Amino acid sequence: MTVQEQYELLEKTVRAYNPAADFDHIREAFAYADRCHQGQKRKSGEPYIIHPLAVAQIVAEELKLDSESIEAALLHDVIEDTPATHEDVARMFSPTIADLVEGVSKLTRIQYATKEDEQMENLRKMLIAMSKDIRVILIKVSDRLHNMRTMEYQSPEKQKQKSLETMEIYAPISHRLGMQRIKWELEDLSLKYLDPVGYEEIISRLDAKKTEYDAFLLRTQTQIDDRLNELAIKHMVYGRIKHPYSIYRKMFNQQKSLDEIFDLFAFRVLVDTMGDCYNVLGVIHDIYKPIPGRFKDYIGTEKPNGYQSLHTTVMGPDGLPFEVQIRTWKMHEIAEYGVAAHWKYKQHGQGAGTEGKYEWVRRLLENQEGADAEEYIHSLKVDMFADEVFVFTPNGDVQNLPAGATPIDFAYAIHSAVGNRMVGAKVNNRIVTFDHILKNGDIVEIMTSKSAKGPSRDWMKIAKSSEARSKIRQWFKKEKREENIANGRSSFEQELKHAGLVMKDVTDPENLPHLLKKVSYGTLEEMYAAIGYGGFTAQKAVSRMKGELLRISRQHQAEELTLKPEEPPIPVPSRPVSKSEQGIIVEGLDNCLVKFSRCCTPVPGDEIVGFITRGYGVSVHRADCPNAAPERRTGQEGRWLKVTWGSDTNESYPTTIDVVCKDRMNLILDISTALSSTNTFVSGLNSRSTEDGFAVIRLEIRVRDGAQMKAIMNKLNQISGVLRVTRPAG
Ligand code: MN
Repeated sequence: MTVQEQYELLEKTVRAYNPAADFDHIREAFAYADRCHQGQKRKSGEPYIIHPLAVAQIVAEELKLDSESIEAALLHDVIEDTPATHEDVARMFSPTIADLVEGVSKLTRIQYATKEDEQMENLRKMLIAMSKDIRVILIKVSDRLHNMRTMEYQSPEKQKQKSLETMEIYAPISHRLGMQRIKWELEDLSLKYLDPVGYEEIISRLDAKKTEYDAFLLRTQTQIDDRLNELAIKHMVYGRIKHPYSIYRKMFNQQKSLDEIFDLFAFRVLVDTMGDCYNVLGVIHDIYKPIPGRFKDYIGTEKPNGYQSLHTTVMGPDGLPFEVQIRTWKMHEIAEYGVAAHWKYKQHGQGAGTEGKYEWVRRLLENQEGADAEEYIHSLKVDMFADEVFVFTPNGDVQNLPAGATPIDFAYAIHSAVGNRMVGAKVNNRIVTFDHILKNGDIVEIMTSKSAKGPSRDWMKIAKSSEARSKIRQWFKKEKREENIANGRSSFEQELKHAGLVMKDVTDPENLPHLLKKVSYGTLEEMYAAIGYGGFTAQKAVSRMKGELLRISRQHQAEELTLKPEEPPIPVPSRPVSKSEQGIIVEGLDNCLVKFSRCCTPVPGDEIVGFITRGYGVSVHRADCPNAAPERRTGQEGRWLKVTWGSDTNESYPTTIDVVCKDRMNLILDISTALSSTNTFVSGLNSRSTEDGFAVIRLEIRVRDGAQMKAIMNKLNQISGVLRVTRPAG
């Protein structure tokens, strides 16, 4: 492909998802980058412009970003590698685009030294925090992806170093932003250089068995497909062989050969609703034998990056184990495209159902509502780590401090002795004042002296971290006890006077023990010392003591409060349902609105009673529901009615079952298999632990009648570890 053809492809790709893109500017960015990089060559011998073009192509194809991002991707190396400056780019394009390019260049300049895990985590956070605008990190990841794709032209040392960085920094960042596809490719490419022998082995073995594996994938897929069609569960199913790095990691972790690896294959079933996820799980376990200990419910407990899915591993008929992932379409989008998917859902005004779960993404997206396609991810500010700042020590370690931190915080984070002996600080080799605010990526150096006088009291106000403040307090507490007591006593006395109290009230032997207890100190002297070094305040001491003195004086006239008896509770109103289809006959009343109480969710066959609600029609309770108990009826007998089941009951009724059990592995799995074998549709499943170490699993299901209900409860009762199966009421 010629450079021109590659550019045409880029425009075509962008046009497909964003016809309103600013193609004039994109073309200008391409032309300008081409001019700037004129004469530069890549290691492959190709003209340099091939690289920014390819990065822009990834940004368009994989992430579908806005015009500004495409332009910034085309220009991403001009500030770093050509005479062009931030001002040039800002003038010719826009200040935002110049900032994006500058942001990418800044990330490029960071030096990575291979360090322990904690350092890696801080580096990842630092990169994201430094990005400020999320598009910077997205472009940077795309840049790295293309560099990894063309790594063969680099020296072996460079290959190893870049691959390690990619594996440790960029793949996890892609994962964290939820971009699975890019993460996989980065991992596979890195593996190719980090362990070429292992990589080749996996690739060639997979190639050799391709025909066999493909046949297996097709056969199994058809089997699952057919069964789900029979049950009329709307779905899509497909299978794949896992990607090389994930196979490699398993071989390595489990010390196994390729043949011994479990779940080389993964199938995915996509459905419309969460309830269907559990229904499909039951069906899969009905067709294939589940392998114990391999079931994971990431729907009930989602991963930190928002990933949701059910995972299970089962044994196929020919002895080949495979994994099945079951999720809704929405969960799938989020798993594949991460940040971008959240935005898309938001924009189309659908799928906002997972309120509260993607807090940080939502915060990022809050100002995006109503934006058009061109505004895609526009000006998304990265505030994921807005309350943290990441700086380097002179030897390249990363320190993680609260935002607004100063050299004082940094010094005490290193060691209290460093803080206590600090006489000066340098940031990026320049001397700064102690209240200088540190920025991401700063290199901070602390100058110390043995003859330092120690911290001053002002430092406590300057320090941002509670760690630094408490270490400074510690120093004053130890070094200056006499002074602290004197200072503390004088501020206490002042505050006391202010509150209109006298010292005699405090020192009165009858009051003093109560007062000391109230402020949690053993003696007044201890309290003065604490006030003196800042561990406690005179205001707090006086206000607590004042309250206590008031209480003591009132104690004698204390009166008993009488409580009014509680009014009988009115049954909780629940959602109204259309009367004619409910199958309920209300004695003496025709055509009245009927709804089922949420507290006891009756099903046909249950003995029932009706209650005339205020404005919600007749609410139907089970006769044994505590809300319908005779003692609750006092004073409103006239509102209780006799109701019975008619012959035209609905196909199914929503109801609830509680399963009390000893928590154990695979419990949820057995429960969902039992539900599937009784043809029960599940719409929700929630589990919580009780204080005495049991688990209560609440099942929201739909059943036809009491007979099916009984069958389900029997099945559940037979599961090992299940102590009690009940229908909640009241
Ligand atoms: Mn680049």
